[in-house]
Amino acid sequence: VNYPSPSAAPERPRNLPDVTAPAMAPFWEAAQRHVLTAQRCQDCGDTRFPPLELCPACWSVNQAWVEIAPEGELWSFVVYHRALDPSKAQDLPYVVGRVVTDAGAIFTVRLDLEPEAATVGMRVKASWDDVTDEVTLLRFTAP
Ligand SMILES: [Zn+2]
Repeated sequence: VNYPSPSAAPERPRNLPDVTAPAMAPFWEAAQRHVLTAQRCQDCGDTRFPPLELCPACWSVNQAWVEIAPEGELWSFVVYHRALDPSKAQDLPYVVGRVVTDAGAIFTVRLDLEPEAATVGMRVKASWDDVTDEVTLLRFTAP
């Protein structure tokens, strides 16, 4: 297979989330304030990300967004050496990791870490990328 090189890819806008979509709007609103939130079941306390209509632990529909501690552990990570999205080509190489927060919610996001600085099991804390006036993306970095 002949993959196009990232440098030959055409420029296009960054692939940003729709921060007005009702299911995720509370998360993005909190992110603008650099506050980490996750969905918590109001009946059994199960805490998760992304949100679900039904609690997977007790099947309750009684769910709410709550602020959680912006800290956790790096469970796993990968280092991207090829930009699957051309708008990320200038960022190569970059790290994407799965972070298990102390509250239990799991986030799979870009890390503000150099590849050689990422270690499975390391402590991480939320960091924030203010991309536009409307969109702030969650990342994690070393504490
Ligand atoms: Zn529940």
